[in-house]
Amino acid sequence: MTAGVQVIGHPLVQHKLTLLRKKQTSTIEFRRLLGELAALMAYEVTRDLPLREVAIETPVAAATGQAIDGKKVVLVAILRAGIGLLDGMLDVVPGARVGHVGLYRDEQTLHPVEYYFRMPRDLEARDVIVVDPMLATGNSAIAALDRIKAQRPRSLRFVCLVSCPEGIANLRARHPDVPIFTAAIDERLNEHGYIVPGLGDAGDRYFGTRP
Ligand code: URA
Repeated sequence: MTAGVQVIGHPLVQHKLTLLRKKQTSTIEFRRLLGELAALMAYEVTRDLPLREVAIETPVAAATGQAIDGKKVVLVAILRAGIGLLDGMLDVVPGARVGHVGLYRDEQTLHPVEYYFRMPRDLEARDVIVVDPMLATGNSAIAALDRIKAQRPRSLRFVCLVSCPEGIANLRARHPDVPIFTAAIDERLNEHGYIVPGLGDAGDRYFGTRP
């Protein structure tokens, strides 16, 4: 296992990912499965968020409970496919703030070009979870993390559904301090920058824009 990379092997995650990958899976099903996967992954990704003790009163007695420490968590979607993971994650972390990084991949160079960047305030006091379904070359993730890190978040995590050795190596080399959570490490990248076997273009499948 690669240091800093957690493969979420939960049977529900693996089962739903297999359905998601199938080319016969319709847009409606793809959306539903991506939402369910996002919620299950959010549960694992937030496992080590810091807690603090809080005094409460139950209907019976005074008690001490635990609450997530600090300001609201931030989910950052890398546009556009990252949007597909937002709703499912917000089901589990409903108070989260949401940031967006708009990057598209230049199909010739495979390098990311930024067209949008908007974050909540006070990132220094917040734990940030960056989401993108596919970690392919790693270039978009690196560019997004470069920009977010400049705002000094309290912590930073990266979540994807499907990754590949090339993307993981690239991202770990540039951001060794950012843990990666993924449901699968696939075989390789092909010459068009697609993960093999992967699931195709996650954005096109989620939005129904297949050319
Ligand atoms: N982006 C995708 O949506 N799919 C891939 O396989 C690679 C990058």
